[in-house]
Amino acid sequence: MKVTAIKGVGEKTALALAKLNINEVEDVFLHLPRNYDIYERPILIKEIDNKAVVSIEGTVIRSLEMSHIKNLTVISTTIRDEAGDTIKVKWFNMPFLRNTVKYSMKFIFRGRIKRLNNSIVMEQPEILTLGKYDEKINEMQPIYSLTKGISNNLMIKTVKEALKMCNHKDYMPDDMRGKYDICEYKFAINNIHFPADYEALKLARKRLAFDEFFAFIYKMNKLKEKEIAIPNQYIINNFELSDNIIKNLEFELTNSQKSVLEDIRNDISGNKVMQRLIQGDVGSGKTIIAFLSMFDMAYAGLQSALMVPTEVLANQHYESINKIIEDNNLDISVVLLTGSMTAKQKKLAYEKIVNKEALIVIGTHAVFQEKVVYDKLALVVIDEQHRFGVMQRATLMEKGYNPHVIIMSATPIPRTLAIILYGEMDISIIDELPANRLPIKNCVVTKDYRPKAYKFIENQVNQGRQAYVICPMIEENDMLEAENVVDYANVLRENLPSNINVQYLHGKMSAEGKNDLLTKFYNNEIQVLVSTTVIEVGINVPNATVMMVENAERFSLASLHQLRGRVGRGNHQSYCVFISATNSEEKLKRLEILNKSNDGFYIASQDLKLRGPGDFFGIRQSGEMQFNIADIYTDADLIEKAKKAVEEFISKDYEFIDKNMNNDIFIIA
Ligand code: ADP
Ligand code: MG
Repeated sequence: MKVTAIKGVGEKTALALAKLNINEVEDVFLHLPRNYDIYERPILIKEIDNKAVVSIEGTVIRSLEMSHIKNLTVISTTIRDEAGDTIKVKWFNMPFLRNTVKYSMKFIFRGRIKRLNNSIVMEQPEILTLGKYDEKINEMQPIYSLTKGISNNLMIKTVKEALKMCNHKDYMPDDMRGKYDICEYKFAINNIHFPADYEALKLARKRLAFDEFFAFIYKMNKLKEKEIAIPNQYIINNFELSDNIIKNLEFELTNSQKSVLEDIRNDISGNKVMQRLIQGDVGSGKTIIAFLSMFDMAYAGLQSALMVPTEVLANQHYESINKIIEDNNLDISVVLLTGSMTAKQKKLAYEKIVNKEALIVIGTHAVFQEKVVYDKLALVVIDEQHRFGVMQRATLMEKGYNPHVIIMSATPIPRTLAIILYGEMDISIIDELPANRLPIKNCVVTKDYRPKAYKFIENQVNQGRQAYVICPMIEENDMLEAENVVDYANVLRENLPSNINVQYLHGKMSAEGKNDLLTKFYNNEIQVLVSTTVIEVGINVPNATVMMVENAERFSLASLHQLRGRVGRGNHQSYCVFISATNSEEKLKRLEILNKSNDGFYIASQDLKLRGPGDFFGIRQSGEMQFNIADIYTDADLIEKAKKAVEEFISKDYEFIDKNMNNDIFIIA
């Protein structure tokens, strides 16, 4: 049913909603809040820390003053809390407040904290009596992703109306719901938008996460039925080329790498098509394994494609493989295929692929687009993007290809989970790092440490090394108190000698701009790279030895673990400096986990234990394996349940129609 069926939604609103991919009434249900506005218990002024919005119970200790700035009328006063601390509060264009807010009165003030130099001000607070606030406490208002023409209030109204039309029959029969301990679909969808309370929200989220896993595992089961033991159309027995390349490498493969390579060789020389997941922590050397297998295909005159999640990574792999080709004087042509290439460049690439001039293709999801026609696609390697890999098989099969598939992942998932999520895949694990690696030294510090950190970076650069500095934001933003790459690069330029080239990088730059900067960084023409987390996945610059992260408290530990994996990739001692903008013990404790462990799964699961309800939707851990709401770390137990449920479902011949679950392939462009 079209959205226009919803009361209050006209053509104009429908057009705006379409921009959010909301076309049908169903889509409204699944436009989940990205967070909730919660009226939490008031806190003391000294507890504000770096919170953005707070409620303070305070007494007005000064009569309201009015002033004019440009065309704004500003009303301001100061309030004092129970502990005797004071904070200034300000309102814009609300002169009438002088009639309600008076000297010595007590209210709860709820507003945004604005920081200026060393002082803080609360802006535009709501004013509530203690009684009124008590009623509102813990009430959760959904906050949605919006677009022009759709305000949060309009979204709320639309969702409310749409929910009245929700008449879904739950696909999960009552007895099974009881058994797997999940709530009704209708309850879930109502409470995910407008939670009755926190418990209801948890139940709702659990149900929807369960549904996502259920749909995913169900589909995989169907897929598996179809492809049991697909015969190997591309039997490779000759490994002469890869053996020669291995001999010419600057390093010796680790035993783990050798054993994985052996697994692959057994697969591709066998009589079934290969489907293998290679798990190995960041820096364990997965790329070379992929390249070697691709060379074996090329040697047999067959094509292979390597797909990665970002353009910068595609570019990097493209350069590395070409280096191997040069070093070995090979006559093999590789093409790069990414979304940002011009139509002309793409056309040229397509031609080289279809006429078999290029046997190796490296790119983003562009490598599988409609227009790409392979001659004999014998091997597909997918780097850092599991889920895509599994689902992509179906598409490839539909296109008439039955290639060998390798999926490479740095997310250490316990074997039991991997078996469920990659049901049909065999698993190889690289469980050792190259021998020349020294363990990374970590430290978690506060902002006071910065001068020392800058000095440290300077020393490392003087020794010929390089550094990454990560900031959460691209540029200054009123809403958030956090470092941004543009300003930070300037600060570093001021604090470091002028012979050190400092540049910044972020996701909104053009692909060309990003590639250019990364190439310069790779060649050590740039010594310090200030970046957002775009460099989190896969980037490999072995000469970089310092990873400094500003506002480390804002990142998930899994993300910090990935960032840390950008250093310690060569034979130099590497360092990680996590700078926390907060002194809050709890947050520092969380970061300390990184010091203790190097096991990504352990890190992510501990992280979740230490986070509070306010982080409800902020806790997405895995950058790979993207589900809408479920998270393979938080919901590990649900995955097992969903698997059992799917088995029961299928054995009972129940029908499952996947109409209201968005389980499409997720691609990070
Ligand atoms: P990841 O597993 O994170 O994808 P990469 O494949 O990017 O890791 O490898 C990281 C770095 O380690 C690269 O510079 C690569 O050349 C190097 N490398 C790979 N294998 C070895 C090895 N056996 N000995 C030394 N260095 C290696
Ligand atoms: Mg990699």
